[in-house]
Amino acid sequence: MKRRQFLRGLGLGAVVGGALPAAVAKAQPTQFRWRMVTSWPPGFPILQEGAERFARRIDEVSQGRLKIEVFAGGVLVPALGGFDAIRQGTVEAGSSASYYWAGQVPAAQFFTAVPYGLTVEDMQAWLYGAGGLELWNEVYAKVGLYALPMLNTGVQMGGWFRKELRTVEDLRGLKMRIPGLGGKVMAKLGVAVTLLPGAEIVPALERGTIDAAEWVGPAHDLVLGFPKVAKFYYYPGWHEPGAQAELMLSKRAWDALPKELQGMVHAVANEINIWSYAEFERRNAAALAQIKKDFPDVRVLPFPDALLREFRRQTDVVLGEEAAADRTGDFRRVYDAYLKFRSEQKDWVEIAQRAYFRAEELR
Ligand code: CA
Repeated sequence: MKRRQFLRGLGLGAVVGGALPAAVAKAQPTQFRWRMVTSWPPGFPILQEGAERFARRIDEVSQGRLKIEVFAGGVLVPALGGFDAIRQGTVEAGSSASYYWAGQVPAAQFFTAVPYGLTVEDMQAWLYGAGGLELWNEVYAKVGLYALPMLNTGVQMGGWFRKELRTVEDLRGLKMRIPGLGGKVMAKLGVAVTLLPGAEIVPALERGTIDAAEWVGPAHDLVLGFPKVAKFYYYPGWHEPGAQAELMLSKRAWDALPKELQGMVHAVANEINIWSYAEFERRNAAALAQIKKDFPDVRVLPFPDALLREFRRQTDVVLGEEAAADRTGDFRRVYDAYLKFRSEQKDWVEIAQRAYFRAEELR
């Protein structure tokens, strides 16, 4: 039997090189099949679309060596069940947002969004250039996970409310869907906070189970039907100024991938990350115009300054409390790194981005 045929017979697919016995002994699998669960509703624009696009692109660039079957939220496991499903070895991958795992890994909240925190541009600078991603993976390694940034929403909207907000007191007693640190800030102001996955929000608003909810921005909010069930649409998304979603992997599955496939996963995750941000910017603009046109009774309003100031004040309180409560010390460690990066960026952001937006407003 010829060497190549022999290897094919073993299902190895290719000659690994070197002397045959060593090659056979060291040969690693060349084909990988993963299952990926997401936190997004089936067919959901940009997010579920992006997860499926990722799987398709990986199949293309790896020439079929890594195949990923994608399951929308609730199909294989609940929308917020990815963390457990990967850790239990049920699936290898997830498309989700790290702040959903705040209960298990408090420090993970920094890698999605922090109220009044980094914008999408600076988040990329922190993650890719200033050690943010390394920190993320240090924290995740402790729970057997590996993360890459994939899918970024850009600045979000502040949310849909069924009643107009005039003072901070108007928040008291409201039931609102809002995750992460933003939710904890709202809770400080007397809001009863719930965390519902995307598909369950509008039905809850319609039934009156909740009074307010934030999701992402116009592109999704229009599709989900928010303008039909709430009439006050507030901005800006002070709580999520550039929410970074994640490609979450089982560390064991990740470590088992040959280097070149790891490189492809990195590259395609980057590609989908940029693609998603571009799509959010484009589709949000179009959907905002559509909402204004089709729902003239919807009022698109800025949060009153008094509320924004209070959100900011409570954000510092919440971050301090979270740091004190996390006994692993990871929250404090990541928070310090995040603050250090922000202070290093501050001057530049001021004379570049902020000054540009101010200049643009002059006529
Ligand atoms: Ca959100």
